[in-house]
Amino acid sequence: MKLVSLVVPVYFEEACILRFIEEVDAVFSLLKERYQHEYIFVDDGSRDNTVGLIKKAALTNTHIKLIELSYNHGKQLAVTAGITYAKGDYLLYMDPDLQDPPDEIPRFIEEIEKGFDLVFGKRQEKKDSFINVVLSGLFWWVLDKFTGLNIPKGIAVMRIFNRRFAASFLKYNEQSRFIEGMFMHIGLKQTTLEIKQRERFAGVSKFNFNRKMKLAFDAIFDFSEIPLKMAVRLGFYLMFSAFFALITIVVLRLFFIQFQLGWPSIIITIIGATGILLFFIGLAAIYIGKIYKEVKARPLFSIKEMTNFYE
Ligand code: UDP
Ligand code: MG
Repeated sequence: MKLVSLVVPVYFEEACILRFIEEVDAVFSLLKERYQHEYIFVDDGSRDNTVGLIKKAALTNTHIKLIELSYNHGKQLAVTAGITYAKGDYLLYMDPDLQDPPDEIPRFIEEIEKGFDLVFGKRQEKKDSFINVVLSGLFWWVLDKFTGLNIPKGIAVMRIFNRRFAASFLKYNEQSRFIEGMFMHIGLKQTTLEIKQRERFAGVSKFNFNRKMKLAFDAIFDFSEIPLKMAVRLGFYLMFSAFFALITIVVLRLFFIQFQLGWPSIIITIIGATGILLFFIGLAAIYIGKIYKEVKARPLFSIKEMTNFYE
């Protein structure tokens, strides 16, 4: 009998959570000859009735375990907390909003049983607004160019991985966590599985434009040093061209044209140079900020309460 842990971050999901448990339980009742399941719900500081509903369900449903973080840590850390406490042979990470349908679970299990360490869900098509499709397309394109992580296109949240993979994941102690990038960085034997996605069952998406942008920047600065190298390269070219421009002007002035060197060019040079300097100092500052955050090596999450964990 193998144990499958469902690692599920929840944040204001009172509208979805019971339906989610119902659908997943139904799936596992068909698999019960060979697989047991446990839910590792990680509440990320919801202030609605999400926790109340889960705790109530946990009284009768022994599969349910709940970790309550003491405040909103962000999805990436909530997932990390869940993976830390999941005991399963396989860990299945999915959102409770039913965008990734639980009926796909048996296919994921079947696939990972073939000997993979990680099976990523891949959406056939994403149901989303036009602007979101464009923005996320742009994001994945930039990410691909900047980090070389080769994250599969159209990756879904739903994925399953084994103990070995989870153990590798838990060795990553970095504070700012772009999970998809970390998963690729772990490597091992990975594959993808096409799934049909549904609309969010109820409730609203918590990822507004600002949060998405923050994630995008984290992703790029966490996994790429290209912005730093760009600074060095551009600086080098600028120095070189300035040197040649200087020689050209001197030669022109001495032998060919008697022109008056004007203020405008000087002012423009000063402004331009200052701008470039500031820009790249800023870039460097971003990395320094990240280093500062990492060297503090704070604990990744703070737990308020744990329900149904016995050890
Ligand atoms: N979530 C979380 N902490 C947050 C924001 C979201 O744990 O600060 C969870 C949320 O409950 C959901 C998942 O992350 O399970 C994905 O969020 P959502 O469905 O709102 O995002 P979308 O699918 O629209 O990208
Ligand atoms: Mg969602």
